[in-house]
Amino acid sequence: MTTVAFIGLGNMGGPMAVNLIKAGMTVRVFDLVPAAMQSLAEQGAITAQSACGAAAGADVVVTMLPAGKHVRSLYLGSEQQGLLDVVAEGTLLIDSSTIDADSARAVAAAAAAKGLEFVDAPVSGGTAGAAAGTLTFICGGSDAGFAKAKPVLECMGANIFHAGSAGAGQVAKICNNMLLSVLMVGTSEALSLGIDNGLDPKVLSDIMKVSSGGNWTLEKYNPCPGVMPSVPSSNDYQGGFMVDLMVKDLGLSQEAALSSQSSTPMGALARSLYVNHARKGNGRRDFSSIFEQFKQEK
Ligand code: NAD
Repeated sequence: MTTVAFIGLGNMGGPMAVNLIKAGMTVRVFDLVPAAMQSLAEQGAITAQSACGAAAGADVVVTMLPAGKHVRSLYLGSEQQGLLDVVAEGTLLIDSSTIDADSARAVAAAAAAKGLEFVDAPVSGGTAGAAAGTLTFICGGSDAGFAKAKPVLECMGANIFHAGSAGAGQVAKICNNMLLSVLMVGTSEALSLGIDNGLDPKVLSDIMKVSSGGNWTLEKYNPCPGVMPSVPSSNDYQGGFMVDLMVKDLGLSQEAALSSQSSTPMGALARSLYVNHARKGNGRRDFSSIFEQFKQEK
């Protein structure tokens, strides 16, 4: 039976680890928050005293942490041992956190120097996808690493992509989220212009959806309240994908753009708009709430 060490049991990692247990794997867990481990123990996981304790001797290590600095220090260690110092020969390392591509590449290179496969595998699909086991995994790493990771990821997700070599998963993820933010801002702006000029937002949405301005936000995630049922805009922007997480991903996209000397003016503007929106107390609301920034005071 495959033994998986799962480290980082937050909003995403907790339900992902549960799906590995349901798939019949032996799952050893560790988180800095004891209550998160307790909850997993009640669902069949074995708790460990430390991340290294969970990872030593495991076939696979999966990490789901907040940011690049957490991933680097956990794998590489500093004063303390890192995961790379304790895992057995042949252990597959998968990091599903959304982090900067440079950190993912640095950990992958350090792992490769020890003969270990490291796959960056950030996800799309949010907490609902994590619970349902329908996440999309966007992987970076060698062909061999991806081939080993795929059956493990299939226990937690519905779509598993290999974007390229180390770091490519992180790059693909932030490219997508940058585009999504630009589409959301543009759609909000266009709908608001129509409303200000007397149009019904539902009628305008139906027109644009099948015209040249059609895009995913109009088809699946309309930001104007009341136009679509069962989307966050029709539920006071609750649930969905938080503004704070979009701000994080847009920051990563701009860091990547700086690092590669890329021109991303729309992404930079979208980041500024989302930062301002978060500062106005909207950080925990769904990202389609940016629509409210374009509403005229009546
Ligand atoms: P979270 O803050 O809920 O969970 C992170 C967990 O990591 C916490 O429980 C924390 O205690 C733990 N942790 C931090 N450092 C640790 C360490 N050194 N050892 C052990 N545990 C440690 O975050 P989340 O919402 O689960 O997101 C995790 C990652 O997934 C982030 O990179 C996020 O950007 C990404 N993501 C989140 C969503 C979402 O909808 N929440 C969607 C897609 C991607």
